[in-house]
Amino acid sequence: MSIEAPKGTHDVLPREWPAWQRVLDEAERLCAAYGYRRIVTPTFEETELFARSSGEASDIVSKEMYSFEDRGERSLTLRPEGTAQVCRAYAEHGLQREPQPVKTWLVAPMFRYAKPQKGRYREFWQLNVEAIGCEDPAVDAELIALQDAWLKALGLETTLLLNSIGDRACRPAYLERLEAWLDEHSSELDAEARHKRETSSLRVFDTKNPELAALLEGAPTIGDALCAECREHFEAVKRYLDACGVAYELAPRLVRGLDYYTRTTFEFVAPGLGAQDTVSAGGRYDYLVETIGGPPTPAVGFASGIERIVLSLEEQGEHFEHPAIDVFFVCEPDAPRERVLALMTALRAQGRSCETDFAGRSLKGQLTQAQRLGANLIVIAAAGQATLRRSGKPDETMSYEMLEEELA
Ligand code: ATP
Ligand code: MG
Repeated sequence: MSIEAPKGTHDVLPREWPAWQRVLDEAERLCAAYGYRRIVTPTFEETELFARSSGEASDIVSKEMYSFEDRGERSLTLRPEGTAQVCRAYAEHGLQREPQPVKTWLVAPMFRYAKPQKGRYREFWQLNVEAIGCEDPAVDAELIALQDAWLKALGLETTLLLNSIGDRACRPAYLERLEAWLDEHSSELDAEARHKRETSSLRVFDTKNPELAALLEGAPTIGDALCAECREHFEAVKRYLDACGVAYELAPRLVRGLDYYTRTTFEFVAPGLGAQDTVSAGGRYDYLVETIGGPPTPAVGFASGIERIVLSLEEQGEHFEHPAIDVFFVCEPDAPRERVLALMTALRAQGRSCETDFAGRSLKGQLTQAQRLGANLIVIAAAGQATLRRSGKPDETMSYEMLEEELA
């Protein structure tokens, strides 16, 4: 019996890596351009961290966490998301004493027990970008502009959906109105919506059931109930996005799946991904740091699914290749292999990429392999001399001493 990767996990094969590399390189480049610095957090945390931050009724806490007892000592959980971790690190290391906001980015695998399907895995990679310690709506706009620039640099067509879901001041009164409306329509709600109502009724809007979504078109929306401060904050976010040339669609029923979100809420959706069409999502979470024991700290962030972005690039017919190598050494049967290997080592030390044959190929086979790798230069090594082959030029045969000079 052969062993396969666990259900819901996947390999990224070497031939698939160039697309990943492109996506991650652009992320790294833009995060640097926007002043975000890298952070690395552990793969598992105390279960309590996610239980407390995400909300009991969230999909993550209620059914998706990979939790285990650590040798009977405490309950640990493979991270299902990154934001709570970054906030934990912020509070734990007193990062509120550093210049604010603390702007971080994280690329890491996340673990969620879900039904595997296209664009949905049990282990998947996310880019998490957070700006912690600042209420300024310009930071919300900056984060959104960063995502927009990233997705555009990758050539992805996406739509940005934007909303504000209020704060402690205005949300309670709105929730009362929403509750009353949901009471009136309780017979039409699905089981999931009833369950969410028990803890966080705003999240009934976060549904994949089209009938429920249609019904909720008639429900009161938070936008009409925002307090003056939230309204002003949201207006400023929109003005700054306009100034940065970022297009958005207002989505009055857009909420996020986790309880910790406040105010600005957004999602980037890509066509062609079917039901799993959200490639990047996030918002403000002004109460999260204090929920996990830190000082009151406003913050905003987003998370993007790397697999979904790679999938949508494929969907759009984009194709990525490994970079071509600099030099390929074709070896005749009597070639001095020690000399070739020494030369390759010296070239690699200078930062040039080179390759040779390790599979006993014929001369013809080696030349084909050199072409496959896109070699800029081909060296055909023979007993006392070598031939240099460059495209568009006649072959030049020379001694090894001359070859070394030529390649240097
Ligand atoms: P969904 O509604 O699709 O379940 P979510 O609200 O749970 O998404 P977030 O927690 O906001 O997602 O995560 C941010 C992003 O991470 C998503 O927009 C998506 O691109 C990606 N993502 C989330 N869950 C998965 C998964 N199981 N497999 C692959 N990517 C995922
Ligand atoms: Mg989910």
